[in-house]
Amino acid sequence: MTTSACRLCAHTPVNPVGPAAALPQVFECPVCNFRQSELPQDHADRIRHSPLPDLEAISSASRRTTRLVLELLYPFAPDGRLLDVGTGSGTLIEEAVNRAYVAEGVEPSRALASSVQQRQLPVRPLALPTEERFGPYDAITAVRVLEEVAHPAAFMTDLVSRLAPGGVCLVVTPDVRSFAARKLQKKWWHYHPAAYNFFSEATLNRLMSDSGLDVVFRRRVPDYLPVEFLFARLAALLPEKWRRKLDCPAALHGYAVGLNTFDLLLYIGRKPGQPHNLPPT
Ligand SMILES: [Zn+2]
Repeated sequence: MTTSACRLCAHTPVNPVGPAAALPQVFECPVCNFRQSELPQDHADRIRHSPLPDLEAISSASRRTTRLVLELLYPFAPDGRLLDVGTGSGTLIEEAVNRAYVAEGVEPSRALASSVQQRQLPVRPLALPTEERFGPYDAITAVRVLEEVAHPAAFMTDLVSRLAPGGVCLVVTPDVRSFAARKLQKKWWHYHPAAYNFFSEATLNRLMSDSGLDVVFRRRVPDYLPVEFLFARLAALLPEKWRRKLDCPAALHGYAVGLNTFDLLLYIGRKPGQPHNLPPT
């Protein structure tokens, strides 16, 4: 059984490596080792019309992730124009505006984009890549987006085209070669139906350099998750008879836990050129 070409190096065919818990099949490229799952025909529509998530439940988790992302971004782009791609609930734009950035976002889900607009935050209801020109930016962030886009290489090329010379792009995505992924195999929590691209350090390095970025920073970051989500995911790993005993206590609803399973990669790449806004040393 084969699927379309490798989304990273275009090699065809890619080889099936077995079904994951929530996915019918995962494929691996024999040339660059990139892993991917089949993209649904209606991918763009699914994202555009995805229902509004429980924003209250995710807000504490997304705020903790956001603060860490902005702290790590600061030494490379302390201010200037910032674009948050896949802005979700808008937390990153909000936090960035509270710092020294002129921040805006793009969000392909109509429901999410309009809920962010209602909070008077600047967001375009768009998916990238697009022909529409805006920018340039000193920093672009894409947190937990790469795994969900249809064409990661075209997506990154589009982001880089919107960066000013010397500008930086920060991405966060799960690591398919992490200890957790190798240990849990098909039960790895990042194999889920909305994820199609599974990067490792090697394939993320390749994506960054193919798009014309110099990697200037990389580290693993914790996954801040709503407690309810964690209970649900843990329950899914347990045998049937134990599951009912693992209900999330009501008092913990809305809390976020930092789960450092070391399986999220955060990379910052710089577009060649002279940045105008490095922090004072
Ligand atoms: Zn490949």
